[in-house]
Amino acid sequence: MDFWSPSSWKSKPAAQGVKYADEEHLQRVLSKIATLPPLVAPSEIERLRHQLSQVQEGKAFLLHAGDCAESFDACTHENITAKIGLILSFSLILIWGARTPVVRIGRIAGQYAKPRSSPTEKIGDKIVPSFRGDNVNSLDPEDRNPNPERLLSAYFHSTTTLNYIRAILASGFASLNHPRDWSLSHVRSATLKKEFEEVVTNLSDALDFSRTIGIETGSESAVGYERGGGLGTFGAVDLYTSHEGLMLDYEEALTRKLRNPLRESKEDQSYYNTSAHFLWIGDRTRQITGAHIEYFRGIRNPIGVKVGPSMESDELARVLDILNPDRESGRITLITRYGAGKIEKYLALHIEAIKKSGHPVIWVCDPMHGNTVTSSSGLKTRQFRDIIEEIILCLRIHEQCGSRLGGVSLEFTGELNEEGFSVTECLGGSMELTEDELGLRYQSFCDPRLNFEQSLDVAFLISKYLKE
Ligand code: PEP
Ligand code: MN
Repeated sequence: MDFWSPSSWKSKPAAQGVKYADEEHLQRVLSKIATLPPLVAPSEIERLRHQLSQVQEGKAFLLHAGDCAESFDACTHENITAKIGLILSFSLILIWGARTPVVRIGRIAGQYAKPRSSPTEKIGDKIVPSFRGDNVNSLDPEDRNPNPERLLSAYFHSTTTLNYIRAILASGFASLNHPRDWSLSHVRSATLKKEFEEVVTNLSDALDFSRTIGIETGSESAVGYERGGGLGTFGAVDLYTSHEGLMLDYEEALTRKLRNPLRESKEDQSYYNTSAHFLWIGDRTRQITGAHIEYFRGIRNPIGVKVGPSMESDELARVLDILNPDRESGRITLITRYGAGKIEKYLALHIEAIKKSGHPVIWVCDPMHGNTVTSSSGLKTRQFRDIIEEIILCLRIHEQCGSRLGGVSLEFTGELNEEGFSVTECLGGSMELTEDELGLRYQSFCDPRLNFEQSLDVAFLISKYLKE
C-alpha cells in the first residue's frame, strides 16, 4: 500500500475546503490542538470496532443519532441530558421490543462542521459566505469569515460535552433500572405514552424477576471487550461519539500514533483519530482521488461512508478497496441516504455491487437526507411518512436481496423549550404535526430533526418490524 501519514491528504484536492485569511494563525491553533490530550482512548475505539463486527454478523443493531449540527450555544446541561435520554429511550424500545442489543453512536461531542451545496447564500437581499458550522464561522451573516480560533473552541466544546456524557453515564443515568428518569411528561400522544410506559413496566418486572432469582442487574462498571450493547449487562451502557470528518486540518491535529491495546507488543502502534470513536465521510467529500478518502484510509477508527444516488456501483467497490483493503470486520458502515422516492432505484444495485466485491460492510439506513423538502413557509422540513417509507423500503429491499439492515442513522433531538415542548421541525408522526405548527418551535439552524415523540414513533416501528 502507498505511503500514508496523518498529513498525506494534503497532496490531494479537498472538497469543501475552507480558506483562512491568516495561514499563520491557523497553524498556531493547529499546533496547540496537536498538544492537547485525546478525547477518546484506543481501547474504546477498539471496543466499538468489536461491537460493530457484532452488528455486521446480525447480533446487534446500530443506532446512530443526534443533531445535524451541534452549536456552541446549545452545549448546555439540559440539551445534553435530553439528547442522551432520547438515545437511551430509543434503544430501550429496540432492546425490549426486538430483543436485540443496541450499539449507540451519538452525532455528538464534535459534530460542528457542515458541508454546503453552495459557498454563498442569500440572506435578505445580501449574498454572504455560507455558514459552515460553528467550528468555522458564525451563523450571524455579519460574521462569516472563517476564524481558526473556532477550531480550538470546537475542541473544548467537544471535551466539555463528552465529559458531561461520561459523568451522567457513570452516575447511573443510563441504568435500565431507572428509565423513568428520561422523562415523558411532555409527550402529546396518549397512545405513544402508554406504549412507552408498557415497555418500562415490563422491563421493571423483568428486572425484579431477575433480582429475585439472583441474577446480578446492578451497576456494572467493567469495560471488557465482550460487554454487549444493552442486554448482557443492565447497569452500565456504552455510548460512543461521532462526527463527519470534514475539517481535515482538525482531524489531523487529533490523530495520534498510539498503542493498540489488542496487540501484545508495545511497538505495535496504530494511528487513531482521538477526536471521536467513529467518523464518517459525507456524500459531498467521498471522491476517490480526494483528500478525505486519503485521510480516512489510514486511521484505525471504524468509519462510515454516506452513499447517495450519485454513487456509482463500481465506484462504491473501489472506495472500499481503498478504505478497507484487508477487509476487516466492523471497519466500514455504509450509510445509505437516497430518499423514499429513489431507494428502489439504487439500493438493490449497491447491495449487488458489494456482494460481488466480497467486502464486509454494515448497512445503515439514513432516511433523513434524501427526504428534505421546503415547506410553503420556506422552512426546510421532512415528512414523517417519507422517513418511515424509506426505512420500510430499506428493510424490505435488504430482505429481498438476502442482505440485512444493520441500523439506522437519524437526526433527532430530545431538546425542549422553556415551557417543556418539543421542537417542531418535521411534519406528521403520532403527534400529527402540521405545516401551520412548523414555525412554533423550529430551533434547528441546520437540517430539520425528529422531535422526542416522532423519534419514539420510529423506534416502535423498527422494533415491531425487527421482531416479526
Ligand atoms: C449529514 O449527515 O448531516 C449530511 C450532511 O449528510 P450527507 O453527507 O449524507 O448529505
Ligand atoms: Mn444533516
